[in-house]
Amino acid sequence: VIVRSTLTFQPVLDRIADEIAQTPTRGRPADYIPALAACDPARFGMAVAELDGTVYGVGDWRQPFSAQSITKVFTLALDLAREADELWEHVGREPSGNPFNSLVQLEYENGIPRNPFINAGALVVTDRLHTRTGDAAGTLLDFLRTESGNDRLAIDEDVAASEAAHGDRNAALGHFMASYGNIDNPVPVLLDAYFRQCSVAASCADLALATGFLARHGIRSDGSRLLTQRQAKQVNAVMLTCGTYDAAGEFAYRVGLPGKSGVGGGVIAVVPGRCTLCAWSPGLDEQGNSVAGVAALDRFTTLTGLSVF
Ligand code: GLN
Repeated sequence: VIVRSTLTFQPVLDRIADEIAQTPTRGRPADYIPALAACDPARFGMAVAELDGTVYGVGDWRQPFSAQSITKVFTLALDLAREADELWEHVGREPSGNPFNSLVQLEYENGIPRNPFINAGALVVTDRLHTRTGDAAGTLLDFLRTESGNDRLAIDEDVAASEAAHGDRNAALGHFMASYGNIDNPVPVLLDAYFRQCSVAASCADLALATGFLARHGIRSDGSRLLTQRQAKQVNAVMLTCGTYDAAGEFAYRVGLPGKSGVGGGVIAVVPGRCTLCAWSPGLDEQGNSVAGVAALDRFTTLTGLSVF
């Protein structure tokens, strides 16, 4: 990893951090588990990674936080790389217009979730990756470590235990889909893999670097190919339309990039062919997206003109 602090993107990041520091309303940290509720909403960090692995950062950009639903992008890519289009027979790719943990559409759609980024869809993806690799969370962790160049990147076992202790909604989703035959592993095995996946702790720098393959049209950091160019385009499209749940329209309107949020307060975004971004601040809005994180990405695309529009 090459870290340069004085070139190109640095002044933009510094300016955004200054603006964010003057913004009093930051939302509220997720409170469904104690580990997330304890996060300080005043924390803010942001990183930009160029295609060659050059990283720029500001604020708490090297501070690990709970990646949560951001990991759904990586499990989707890792599974698509293995089973290709067969996946789409088990999970859709339309925005749901519903909260990320909603159950309501599953019954009408025969246990096939709307998209891979709501919890129901992510459970299907993790289930299929677990079947193909024997260890979905371990496969994810290996990938994130390699792409970020950070061997210390790890699963926070306290967060994983807390997720399991407060996992009734995800358990309900898993069992409901299993009743339609859309889950392969025993539900408790799947839930363990999913809770460990959600509990990966990574920094803005780690996650911006790990997302690089989506800006490089499917190419990993070592030059090998993870996804075809077409698949990388498809994953970016699903991020744009579904990555921030029932706020995906607003995110596209404000930020204009494929993006994915997590309830830990992180948001990743892709400028295809140019760079990847990760912003973090634990305070969330009603839809579970980071208030300052989305605001920072909005400012970045506005100030640089780098968006897909
Ligand atoms: N662990 C969280 C859950 O399953 C992840 C959701 C999110 O980050 N939006 O509810």
